[in-house]
Amino acid sequence: MTDRKFLKIKDGDAVFDGCRLSAVAKEFGTPLYVYSQNAIKQRFEELRQAFLNGRPKNRVAYAAKALCCTAMLKLCEKEGMCVDVVSGGELYTAIKAGFPAERIEFNGNNKTSEELEMAVDYGIGRIIIDGLAELSRLEEICAKKNRKMQVLFRITPGVKADSHDFIVTGKKDSKFGIPLDDDIILPYVKKAIDSPWTDFLGFHFHVGSQLFDNSAHLAAFDIALDLADKVYDAFGFRVLEFNLGGGFGIQYTEEQPMPYSYFLDPLIKKAEDYAAQRGIEAPALVIEPGRSIVGEAGLTLYTVGETKDIPGVRSYVAIDGGMFENVRPALYGAKYSAFVVGSAAAQAGSPRLQPSQALKTVTICGKCCESGDIIIKDIELPELASGDILATPSTGAYGYSMASSYNRNRVPGIVFVKDGKAEWAVKPQTYEDITANDIIPESLR
Ligand SMILES: *Cc1c(COP(=O)(O)O)cnc(C)c1O
Repeated sequence: MTDRKFLKIKDGDAVFDGCRLSAVAKEFGTPLYVYSQNAIKQRFEELRQAFLNGRPKNRVAYAAKALCCTAMLKLCEKEGMCVDVVSGGELYTAIKAGFPAERIEFNGNNKTSEELEMAVDYGIGRIIIDGLAELSRLEEICAKKNRKMQVLFRITPGVKADSHDFIVTGKKDSKFGIPLDDDIILPYVKKAIDSPWTDFLGFHFHVGSQLFDNSAHLAAFDIALDLADKVYDAFGFRVLEFNLGGGFGIQYTEEQPMPYSYFLDPLIKKAEDYAAQRGIEAPALVIEPGRSIVGEAGLTLYTVGETKDIPGVRSYVAIDGGMFENVRPALYGAKYSAFVVGSAAAQAGSPRLQPSQALKTVTICGKCCESGDIIIKDIELPELASGDILATPSTGAYGYSMASSYNRNRVPGIVFVKDGKAEWAVKPQTYEDITANDIIPESLR
């Protein structure tokens, strides 16, 4: 649930990082994504304590895809973190946010040659090679530009993490990573080690997302360490770095998230034991959390519109958002909760947030032309009326970043709140924006 430390109910209104949400809705309009800067900073602080402090070689590369805009990447940069990008657009956003190139790491399958060229031109810190042809293409680009890049190989460890099938990425049948078969991967490792254009550093895996059990990370790390031994035995080369991916689970409704240390302590210990047994220095460890940084730090504000009671069937409450700004319920069956922020009545001094109020089971639907455009199915809320402001907590990850202009709805803006101050981080799309790239072809004029 959206970070309780920063979300408080006060005088019948909800206050998020010092800002009254009813006032934020009034000033900035709805639908609106709202993020608490202090909640995001707290997560980075937790990572410093669990993973970085006293371990100067370790890095946290925030997975930009969870929320990518210049304000978020600026915050991430100011916190001293690295950033993990997976496309030219995310890379460009990181550069625009002022990220030093050496703290940018590039992941993702099927990077285009244009994207690889961009990465080489900027001179970013790491390229995580996701397929065998990518290495050859990168070498060609580096040779052309006379620049050497530091690379890791993403492996497919063949472990099955317990999560939704669409966000399980480490199993053998996956579009991500390089299969582990010795005869496939070892010759390419050798090629990367020997190449004048790449510094081969080590291996990367990402087992899945929204995990509450550390067993997939631990099993995958064992596999990566075994592979590192094979590389040493075959080529006398010591792997210096392991990237353990992201995937740390958060609370949307009833989940019980584990602290970072639950995942990271045993991984750190594994690396230390591995090094001690071989009489070598412990390798650098990198993690790529996305959801766990921004997920609970963000919420979405909506204005209630039409309500429809279908007798004996269901009561629909329509909001001014929908799958164009949060596609996860339609895409993954993701579950959210909601609470009433305020209303015309609340603003006039009679709050609606009284626990004694009678509850009613309703379904919160969006305004897209799809029956599947449901944000929350069957939730108990106080009776809602047109004009009421509703908030869905824990929408900070993969909401804005997966938004579209479906039905030519405008992608909502993002407001950052901090210590009572609310500011735009992304302005809402306008109708002009939506049609800006449209052209009527000559033949139709
Ligand atoms: C999606 C992804 C992440 C982030 O996953 P979260 O579950 O959001 O922490 C990290 N690394 C890679 C390679 C990814 O694809």
